Amino acid sequence: MTKTGIIGGGLGGLAAACTLAARGHRVVLFEKNDWLGGKAAVLEEQGFRFDMGPTILTMPRVLERIFSEAGRDLHSELDLRRLDPQWRCFYEDGAVLDLRDDPKKAAEEIGRLSPADREGFERFMQVAKRLSDVSDKFFFWKSVEDLRDTMDLKANMSLSTLSDVLALRMHRTVAGQIKRDVKDKRVAQMLEHFIQYVGSSPLASPAVLCGIAQMQQGEGVWYPMGGTRAVPLALMRLAESLGVEIRTGCGVSRIEVEQGRARAIVTEEGERVAVDRVVSNMDSVRTYAELVGGEPAVEFAKSRRREAACSGVVLYLGLNERYEHLAHHNFVFSRDPEEEFGAIYDRGEPAPDPTAYLAAPARTEPGVAPEGGEALYVLVHTPYLRPHHDWSEMFPGYRDVIIDKLKRCAGMEDIEERIVVERALTPQDIHDRYRVLDGAIYGLASHGKVMGAFKPGNRSRQVEGLYLAGGSAHPGPGMPMALMSGWIAADTLDQDAGGATQGAGADVAAE
Ligand SMILES: Cc1cc2nc3c(=O)[nH]c(=O)nc-3n(C[C@H](O)[C@H](O)[C@H](O)COP(=O)(O)OP(=O)(O)OC[C@H]3O[C@@H](n4cnc5c(N)ncnc54)[C@H](O)[C@@H]3O)c2cc1C
Repeated sequence: MTKTGIIGGGLGGLAAACTLAARGHRVVLFEKNDWLGGKAAVLEEQGFRFDMGPTILTMPRVLERIFSEAGRDLHSELDLRRLDPQWRCFYEDGAVLDLRDDPKKAAEEIGRLSPADREGFERFMQVAKRLSDVSDKFFFWKSVEDLRDTMDLKANMSLSTLSDVLALRMHRTVAGQIKRDVKDKRVAQMLEHFIQYVGSSPLASPAVLCGIAQMQQGEGVWYPMGGTRAVPLALMRLAESLGVEIRTGCGVSRIEVEQGRARAIVTEEGERVAVDRVVSNMDSVRTYAELVGGEPAVEFAKSRRREAACSGVVLYLGLNERYEHLAHHNFVFSRDPEEEFGAIYDRGEPAPDPTAYLAAPARTEPGVAPEGGEALYVLVHTPYLRPHHDWSEMFPGYRDVIIDKLKRCAGMEDIEERIVVERALTPQDIHDRYRVLDGAIYGLASHGKVMGAFKPGNRSRQVEGLYLAGGSAHPGPGMPMALMSGWIAADTLDQDAGGATQGAGADVAAE
C-alpha cells in the first residue's frame, strides 16, 4: 500500500484524501488549524450560526463523484435543497431582479426589467452552455497546466475539435462576451458577477469562464441543511470511515525533496514522516516558495507570473429580526461596475461604492438564528493585500461604507438597531487563518484572454511525486472546483502509482 501525505484539510485536501483512501492508498492528512474544511469554517455565537466562508454551493455532481468513489450516495449523507430564486439583485436605481432557477422564468424576469434583453440573455446562456460543455470535455477531471494538456491539436485536429477551439473565444473577455448579448447595464452587471466566483475582473478574464453561468443556471444553486459547513463535515466522516489518519493542529514546514522527488513531510514540530507521495492543499505559490524551495521553487516562479485573486471583508451580523424581503442569496450592486472593478483589480484599493453579497440562510433553515432572527452574512470583495494595507486601521471606516450601502440600496435602513451580534473577517484574517497568497479568497487571478483560465497543474512539473489540490491549482477556486481539484490530484497520483495495490513505495524503490 502506498503512503501519501496530504498537507492541508481544506475541501481540496479532504476530497483528495477520500478519493485516495477509497482507492486503497494509505493516507495521512496534516492540518495546521484545529478544524478541517479550511475556508469552509463555521462561527457560532449566542444562538447564531454563520458559515464563515463559502455560502453558495453549485455543481453537486462533483461531490457525488467523490462519494461514489467509496460506493456511497452523497444524498444519504447530505440534505441538499435547490434554491429559487438563485440570487435576488438590488440596484442603485431601486430596481430588483430575481435570477430564477428555471431558465425560462429567468429570461421572463429579465425581460420584465429590460424587454430587449430577454433574447440576449437566452443567447448568452447558449454560449455559456457551449463553453461549459467544452470545459467538461477538455479542462475538467484531468491535470491541466496549459493548452498542450487540454487537446492534442496535432493528433486530434478535426472539424469538431476546431469548432471546440473556436467556441473558446480566445480573443474575448467575459465582459466583452456579455456586452455582445446584453444591452441593459443592470442585467450585464448581474451576469458579470458570475466571474466573482473566481475573484477576478470580468474586464480581464477570458470569455471561456462565461461557462460558470451555465454551471449555476443549468445545474442549480444548492443549500446543504446544516450550512456549507456540512460539506467538510460529511467529507471528514467519509475520510475517517475510510481509515485516513487525520492530524489537526499539525502544520507542515517542509517537503523533503531528494533527487527531484518528494520523499517526506517535515512538521513544524520537526517530525519527519516518510511518504511515497505528497498532495499539497496549501496555496500552490506558497507550497513551492515555503515548503519546497531550491531549484524547483525558482523554476516554478519562472514558469509564469502569478497574481492573487481578490480578497474580501465579511461581516457576520446576528439580527434579532429578519428582513422578509431578502432571498437566501442576494446582491446589492455597486453604482458603477467599472469604478468598482477598477478600484479592486487595477488600483488595488477597496471600492468606494462596493457590491455587497448577502446570505440570509434563515429563509431556508430557520435554526441558524434564534426565533425570528437572521444570521446575516455580508461579503464585499476587496483587493488582495498590498504592502500598505493595514486592515486594523482600514476596517472600521470600510465597515461603515458597507452598512451605509445596505441602508441606502437594500431596504435595510434600520439594520443597526437589529444587530445583536457582530463579528468580521478581514483580508488580513483570511491571510493568517488559511495561509493563502496575499489574503486571496479564490487562489490565483484568472486574468489574461488566453492563459487566464489555466492554473498550476495538479501533477507538479518540478517535483516528482508532488501533486497540487485546491483553489490555487487546476481547475481553480470555488467549492466545486476546489473539490474537483482534490479528485484530480488523487486520480493522477493513483494512475502514476499504478493503482494502490502496486505496493508501498515499490515504484520509489525501483527508481
Ligand atoms: C469569505 C469567502 C467566501 C466564499 N464564498 C464562496 C461561495 O459562496 N461559493 C464557492 O463555491 N466558493 C466560495 N469561496 C471559495 C471557497 O471557499 C474556496 O475556493 C475553497 O474552500 C478553497 O478550498 P481549498 O481546497 O483551496 O482549501 P482552503 O480552504 O484554502 O484550505 C487549505 C487548508 O490548508 C491548511 N494549510 C495551509 N498550509 C498548511 C501547512 N503548511 N500545514 C498544514 N496545513 C496547512 C490551511 O490551514 C487550510 O485549512 C469563498 C471563500 C471565502 C474565504
